[in-house]
Amino acid sequence: MSASFALCRECLAQYKSLTYDATCKYTLNVIPFCSLQWKDEHPEKFNHEHRECRRAIIRLVGARTHLWRHGVIPEGARSVWTEAQLAIPDWPGFRRLELNAKEMESLDDCAGELRDVMGFVVQEFPNVSLRDEGGTTSFSACREEKSTHKT
Ligand SMILES: [Zn+2]
Repeated sequence: MSASFALCRECLAQYKSLTYDATCKYTLNVIPFCSLQWKDEHPEKFNHEHRECRRAIIRLVGARTHLWRHGVIPEGARSVWTEAQLAIPDWPGFRRLELNAKEMESLDDCAGELRDVMGFVVQEFPNVSLRDEGGTTSFSACREEKSTHKT
């Protein structure tokens, strides 16, 4: 199944009203994006209870992160990318399709930080899963080992 990009009317209007700010500085967003984030790319009053909208944005940001790293939009996200370009053609994020060396370094830092967090959790808890909880991402982890591990 290939993913799609859809926002509700409210979020669509918010994302359409965003304007590109060339002076905007990025920050590292480890969870949920594991990527760089510019303030002008997301509405300040995004309604985090809109889980489907949030997922759509996370997919879009993820597709762009892949583009930065590998120079292409991943196969599974092409429809997300083209649908987003149609829905919010003026999204400031579409003007940042390449990273300079320093930004690339920051992106690696971001991945490193997430790996550190996840590495620790996975080590401690073999059955870990990430759950999208609206505004935050929660871990679900349990120490019980899978039955196949038993001899
Ligand atoms: Zn929405």
